[in-house]
Amino acid sequence: METTAIETKVGYFGNYGGQFVPDHLAAKLNHLYEVFLTYKDEPEFKLEFTNLLKTFVGRPSPLYKAENLSRITGSTIYLKREDLNHTGSHKINNTLGQILLAKRMGATEIIAETGAGQHGVATATVAALMGMKCKVFMGKVDSERQKMNVERMITLGAEVITANDGNATLKDAVDAALTYYVHNPQAFYLLGSAVGPHPYPTIVRYFQSVISEEIKKQIIEIEGRLPDAVVACIGGGSNAIGAFAHFIDLPEVALYAAEAAGEKMELGKTAATLTLGKPMVFQGSYSLCLADEQGNPIPSASIAAGLDYPGIGPEHAHLRDTERVQYHPVSDAEAIEAYKLLSQKEGIIPAIESSHAVALTTKLFKNKGALVVINLSGRGDKDVSRI
Ligand SMILES: *Cc1c(COP(=O)(O)O)cnc(C)c1O
Repeated sequence: METTAIETKVGYFGNYGGQFVPDHLAAKLNHLYEVFLTYKDEPEFKLEFTNLLKTFVGRPSPLYKAENLSRITGSTIYLKREDLNHTGSHKINNTLGQILLAKRMGATEIIAETGAGQHGVATATVAALMGMKCKVFMGKVDSERQKMNVERMITLGAEVITANDGNATLKDAVDAALTYYVHNPQAFYLLGSAVGPHPYPTIVRYFQSVISEEIKKQIIEIEGRLPDAVVACIGGGSNAIGAFAHFIDLPEVALYAAEAAGEKMELGKTAATLTLGKPMVFQGSYSLCLADEQGNPIPSASIAAGLDYPGIGPEHAHLRDTERVQYHPVSDAEAIEAYKLLSQKEGIIPAIESSHAVALTTKLFKNKGALVVINLSGRGDKDVSRI
């Protein structure tokens, strides 16, 4: 599943990325990178990873032709069904890859942050599979709005630690996990998105790129050609980079990402980092972040817990600057409308995160007759009672 990474120097995408952490963590992270480079192409590692993707996760996930949505929109729309993966989202691809690295490193304790709880559940799942102890850090507000996922993590044997600082959402969960990691460097930090210090953006991209590897093969099998466009929602950027990776070098495939505009495009009410963010160091990496005049991070806001993050993965900041990917804000109201549309017209309840990508697609490709693939990052069971 090799792709042409656009890393310009190790750990950088253009000017973005890097590793802004204390020295003892840098040593740990550089070791992780070495382990990743050693194993990613090793036959035994690859076999274990692909076997588990097949038999534990249920890959390849189907590429489904959404006939009703296509008719309503006026373009041919396929859904990449990451919602059908074990645990209900794309997150499991990355957690499985990283825990196999943790196993090679002899780790016994896994820590993770979570927003919507999908990454926490996926991490608790693979930790149970590998017999490792697991602590998941989650903002208190998120733990209340995603109660079912908290219960799933506990059922899987993980310890859920609630973070009360700040807005008590994903940013604060990452801060709490990083603080724990600084004091307990023997733990393995299983990061959930293509964000944070090097090597995480590179590792997460690699394990998630299975999505675009499959899309490319499937669409050629079904339609005999590449899609005109691939659309994904974007929180930290892992499902989007996974869905884009194998198309970045193919200029005939347009790439679109839907970021969470929130209630409105105003600092404090939005999570539209690529539209409104400023370049700065945030949580271990130089990338874009929502910030005030003094450069202090401003809490994000979105109806989708999984998109509610003021930062963004460094590769996306670079893909924005180079204009290879077009980033568009989608509001809470538009996402809710798309959530209902897909539920009622296709019989598929999408995660409210993924609904942002559906909304952007119906807007951009109205009566265009285009061939479009939406990466349906997760299922919406977790959102039903709130929406
Ligand atoms: C976590 C999550 C996202 C956002 O995270 P990315 O790293 O940007 O992919 C999107 N959709 C679902 C269903 C999620 O669980």
